[in-house]
Amino acid sequence: MAVSSNVLGIVLKTYDLGEKDKILVLLTREQGKLRVVAKGARRPGGRFAALEPLVEVQAAIYPGKSLYTLTQSALVTSHRLVREQLDRLAYGLFMAELLDLFTVDAEARPTSYDLLSQALTHLEEDQPETVLAYFETHLLRQMGLLPAWQACISCQTTESRLVALNLPEGGLVCAACAQKLGGVPLTEETILLLQFFAQVGWEGYGTVDAGALAPKLAKALEQFIFYQLSGRPRSYDFLNSLRHL
Ligand SMILES: [Zn+2]
Repeated sequence: MAVSSNVLGIVLKTYDLGEKDKILVLLTREQGKLRVVAKGARRPGGRFAALEPLVEVQAAIYPGKSLYTLTQSALVTSHRLVREQLDRLAYGLFMAELLDLFTVDAEARPTSYDLLSQALTHLEEDQPETVLAYFETHLLRQMGLLPAWQACISCQTTESRLVALNLPEGGLVCAACAQKLGGVPLTEETILLLQFFAQVGWEGYGTVDAGALAPKLAKALEQFIFYQLSGRPRSYDFLNSLRHL
């Protein structure tokens, strides 16, 4: 017999279902990404009306044939400071969509849940480009795609400085290989920031002044991520329209 379960979840996105209901794409910590029907969520003032994208809840869900049904939800955090500032909201929705695109349904990834949850918390007050660059670094790391900085991915040399991120090769290349193969140029400082971010937890990520370097790292990693995904997330244009770079 099917039993209901309690999960921690972040709403990645929602779809309308009929006049009154919504389907939530819920990234849960325990069971991965699930599709959950929230009955009455389209009614203003209804008990599930607050379940907007980026909201984090403790939820009781009941499995059905293809969709779960939400039976109870208690707010953990609404990430209000993100959702009420249009530019921060754009960053948050972009990060949520990236996680959505990199995950399949019902595969538990608690570290990915924690990454998004922490990123949204930091996005409430920190510099958005720094949060995004850190998030992208760790998303790639969790997916096993983080570019290696120890050697040129093409010729394997460890003698030359790495100068670019080559997308088809999937990593950093030296100047000679960059000339042959091309790539997104990266300065030495930007590669050092990537190394630093990859090796430090959230408690330490703000200890360097990433200032002008973070947007450069974020944009290069985005090109890399879009290549891996064979496309751009829909929320990317919205983000770029609000990005003052
Ligand atoms: Zn090389």
